[in-house]
Amino acid sequence: MRESRIIVVGSLNMDMVVQADRIPNPGETVLGGTFFMSTGGKGANQAVAAARLGGNAAMIGKIGRDIFGSRYLQAIQEEGIDIQGIEQDSEEPSGIALVIVERSGENAIVVAPGANAGLRPEDVEQQFHRYPEGKILLLQLEIPMETVVFAAQQAKKRGMLVLLNPAPANDAVTSLFPLIDIITPNLHEAEQMTGVKITDIASAKCAAQYLSAKGVRHVVITLGELGAVLLDDGEFHHVPVPRVTALDTTAAGDVFNGALAAAIIQEKSLVDATAFACKAAAIAVTRLGAQSSIPYLHEVMQYQE
Ligand code: ATP
Repeated sequence: MRESRIIVVGSLNMDMVVQADRIPNPGETVLGGTFFMSTGGKGANQAVAAARLGGNAAMIGKIGRDIFGSRYLQAIQEEGIDIQGIEQDSEEPSGIALVIVERSGENAIVVAPGANAGLRPEDVEQQFHRYPEGKILLLQLEIPMETVVFAAQQAKKRGMLVLLNPAPANDAVTSLFPLIDIITPNLHEAEQMTGVKITDIASAKCAAQYLSAKGVRHVVITLGELGAVLLDDGEFHHVPVPRVTALDTTAAGDVFNGALAAAIIQEKSLVDATAFACKAAAIAVTRLGAQSSIPYLHEVMQYQE
């Protein structure tokens, strides 16, 4: 096994996906189209994206000792991810995400965290020592907040770069800011964290400035088809995204984050890494599913607009 230089501490969910003309209103039933099951969860999606895009990734997390858990572990191991840090929990079921995807590519998701909710700081402490070569810690917010904080503290002690994708949005996230090197909210998360209404590139820059003033050194706000706005050591950049026809935006943010980590580990500048991540995520939105939509490195390198 190659040295794992990107460590992901996060969630694994089995996604149950139905395509539908539109997301139903409360109390309404809509007749859907195709159903499929796919491995997902923000943590694992980002680990798979990092691995497919040239980063050596290891994952620390929890999944149920059930049919979903066993199937999941087999799939993620085939990606070349080090899975020694993923524990199968005998008490709790695997995390499940119910996903509805509209024809427009828009989606609605409900997550039952199951075993993910039982990932404790002690578990991270136990597993972290396996990866002394770790350079980047990649975090999201689908596991308990105290575990996220603990993992970030451990990484900082070791001099690792801490990359936080603050998703799903969580009001307690500001307590993490001193531990974060790069934060990557999407538009909604950035609005929630800053109170700035984001309607264009200029307002995204205001939100980035706000987060930077709170002590996060590098801020990258993803803006869907508008790409990303970046505040890198006091300098703003807008990184556009290739124009594509979006089929399913599920996991676009995860692909972006895994790709960003993979590019940073390959010593790209943050601007170049963001451009690479935008391209990888744009390819992903042209395909159905979460992990099934993640491109490989050669696909991003060969991509022509
Ligand atoms: P999701 O929740 O659907 O996973 P997100 O809301 O976290 O995504 P977005 O900001 O919507 O994140 O998208 C992340 C990145 O994916 C964007 O910066 C862009 O690179 C790419 N992307 C998303 N939507 C599109 C689109 N319609 N066309 C091209 N690229 C897109």
